[in-house]
Amino acid sequence: MSINQSGWRPEMAEERRDTTVTATGNKALMLEEALIFEIGDTHTTGVDIADAAASASKLGGLERKAEIGLPGLSEPETVRHYTRLSRQNYAIDLGLFPLGSCTMKHNPRLNEKVARLPGFADIHPLAPIQCVQGALELIDQLAHWLVTLTGMHSVAMSPKAGAHGELCGILAIRAALEARGDTRKVVLVPESAHGTNPATAAFAGYAVDNIPANQDGRVDLAALKARLGPDVAAVMITNPNTCGLFERDMKAISDAVHAAGAFVYCDGANFNAIVGRVRPGDLGVDAMHINLHKTFSTPHGGGGPGSGPVVFSQALTPFAPLPFVEKAADGSFRLVEEETAEEHHGQSFGRMVAFHGQMGMFTRALSYILSHGADGLRQVAEDAVLNANYVLRSLDDVLDAPFGPSGPCMHEALFSDAGLAEGFTTLDIAKALIDEGYHPMTMYFPLVVHGAMLIEPTETESKAALDQFVMALRSVAERAKTGDQALKSAPHFAPRRRLDETLAARKPVLVWKEPALAEAAE
Ligand SMILES: *Cc1c(COP(=O)(O)O)cnc(C)c1O
Repeated sequence: MSINQSGWRPEMAEERRDTTVTATGNKALMLEEALIFEIGDTHTTGVDIADAAASASKLGGLERKAEIGLPGLSEPETVRHYTRLSRQNYAIDLGLFPLGSCTMKHNPRLNEKVARLPGFADIHPLAPIQCVQGALELIDQLAHWLVTLTGMHSVAMSPKAGAHGELCGILAIRAALEARGDTRKVVLVPESAHGTNPATAAFAGYAVDNIPANQDGRVDLAALKARLGPDVAAVMITNPNTCGLFERDMKAISDAVHAAGAFVYCDGANFNAIVGRVRPGDLGVDAMHINLHKTFSTPHGGGGPGSGPVVFSQALTPFAPLPFVEKAADGSFRLVEEETAEEHHGQSFGRMVAFHGQMGMFTRALSYILSHGADGLRQVAEDAVLNANYVLRSLDDVLDAPFGPSGPCMHEALFSDAGLAEGFTTLDIAKALIDEGYHPMTMYFPLVVHGAMLIEPTETESKAALDQFVMALRSVAERAKTGDQALKSAPHFAPRRRLDETLAARKPVLVWKEPALAEAAE
């Protein structure tokens, strides 16, 4: 079923009675596409360059001796190859992305327009400061709004994603502890935490201890208090947490952590649910990253750039990383790149990155913040929470909602695989959703819920879009409960059926080899 195998063969007459088979493998606009190495050949080239006149090589022994081995294609063939591949992607501009924990919301076109203004898009990080005053002012304004929205004291703009921001926050905490001669070695992390939290703590040299959750899916305050002691450097808490619930005891947690001489790191990836409603600074947080690419739109996924500024409390501000933007008395902006005694980051732990952060994401996030305004940002949180509760309550009669009975959720709805027919799993539901034209929800996370399905509709979905998604998931869930065997082999309509995901993860084939060579290497 590849395009190489085109053309009519007599034996296909039999196959063609199956109306789902075509000679090309294409199904109308769903086009089969082989690897570029399989369709290109090394003797074709897309450009027409005259042979160079014979001349003595100046490369000495470094001259290429064999074929370079790149696939040759004409320009239209190349354009079609990548266009065909791009049409196999699911995208936020194609449909609802129910991924929980990811906040995949619509990216307003206004952000894109502003980010592409040459004055922002074409500047160089080494440009003289007097030539980029507007860019520095933009960074300063965004910093101002991030500090205002979180009720914190300062912000480090340079970290390049959420996980990078976590490391930044924990390094500032370590620097603050070291400055008082403290060598605490343990970071406490709830069982439900995102994997980046324990990974960050371990990367920064800490041992990680779990904090148990209570029946409600929230941090067990008594267990946390019992575990606090002189060996604990910090507690990392996500709020709202990864079970989609607000940590109501956050202030009591912070007070207990501070009384034990430790710091509170908050994973702010779920800030979307509380922006404009709750200021983490009021809850006693010392450091928190903000995923600009979640809460403040800006495209992400597929390896696109993220941006994870970190807001700090007054206690941690002296230890924040360089550089930062400062407004001088005459209204001009400067970039503080060196640690000096009188600066407010006088004991900075160093730098996170070579330059200043993700300028394109800053531009998009500030456009988003200014175009929404204070009332609009507040409504983002309210509508995101409303939409998630609509999904939760529309499906909790057909899917098990483990924390449903304890009240409303925040911006994501959590279901488990309890109640599916014998042998049917969360994976079957996810695969069947692909047939229905949806990207699957987040699966098997958080780990504390068996067969978890975490769904975050975000505020940018209309009621009509939610109703259609609910209808699709309800139908799939009902089939999984009644044991419809066709579900076990879904997806039926995708270009590829079920893959051996374990083999793909354990023995990924990442480099194309000519079939003959690949066989020889076996
Ligand atoms: C997305 C996410 C992170 C990591 O953020 P990246 O920008 O992907 O590095 C951390 N914690 C939670 C809860 C998240 O949802």
